[in-house]
Amino acid sequence: MLTATEITRDLVLVGGGHAHALVLRMLAMDPVPGARLTLVSPASHTPYSGMLPGLVAGHYRFEDTHIDLARLCQWAGVRFLRDTVTALDPARRELHNAQRPPLGYDLLSLDIGSQPTLDVVPGAREYAVPVKPVAEFWQRWQAGLGTHGGQRIAIVGGGAGGLELALAMAHALAGSGASLVLYCGGELLPGYHRSARAAARDAIGRLGVTLEEGARVAEVRAGEL
Ligand SMILES: Cc1cc2nc3c(=O)[nH]c(=O)nc-3n(C[C@H](O)[C@H](O)[C@H](O)COP(=O)(O)OP(=O)(O)OC[C@H]3O[C@@H](n4cnc5c(N)ncnc54)[C@H](O)[C@@H]3O)c2cc1C
Repeated sequence: MLTATEITRDLVLVGGGHAHALVLRMLAMDPVPGARLTLVSPASHTPYSGMLPGLVAGHYRFEDTHIDLARLCQWAGVRFLRDTVTALDPARRELHNAQRPPLGYDLLSLDIGSQPTLDVVPGAREYAVPVKPVAEFWQRWQAGLGTHGGQRIAIVGGGAGGLELALAMAHALAGSGASLVLYCGGELLPGYHRSARAAARDAIGRLGVTLEEGARVAEVRAGEL
């Protein structure tokens, strides 16, 4: 790690998702001379979303699918601050945080990921569970979503992520009496080769998931779409 006397610039990374986890690894292998690195992230473990369906299905454990950011930072010689950035003051080059006093920076990298715009579908914010942020989805799943027999579960979105999650949930809930429906605004797996789409339809059918294509969800209410 750099000593205080050698530090000439403060590089602050906000968000401990996929992008910054890789940046940290690359910077550890090829350090920027004189830069002190700080990572700000609300959680000390960040999920690898590509493995989330496998976690839901029960193929993996939490520790298989999450990156320990505190450990990664320790290895990379990076300061780790567990916090949420609430505001940015570019004139003062300061970040405001939920827990800590303002944090100064010379260079800033913001990568706080994406989240679905729930408000474009009336009722979605009240009655749906967004898959992003992934960490919150996993907590909701663990807290009982989908674990009671006989539940009717609707998955909205027929891209690769929605399809993988539908298959994973069907696997996890096999024999529980739960019924699953996958709603696609257009066709399943838009943009994929028709053979991939056919294989996906077969897999969905085998696991007993009902597929609704060309079914754009216009509103979510308690217990119905
Ligand atoms: C089910 C599913 C499966 C997927 N599978 C794949 C796959 O197989 N391959 C693939 O390439 N992509 C996959 N993706 C897409 C992938 O998740 C995203 O492309 C990727 O996460 C984007 O990385 P990111 O670092 O930009 O954001 P994220 O990984 O979303 O990370 C954002 C981080 O910012 C933090 N943050 C948010 N707000 C603040 C704040 N105010 N202050 C500080 N920190 C904050 C969050 O806690 C989070 O840690 C999948 C997505 C889903 C939902």
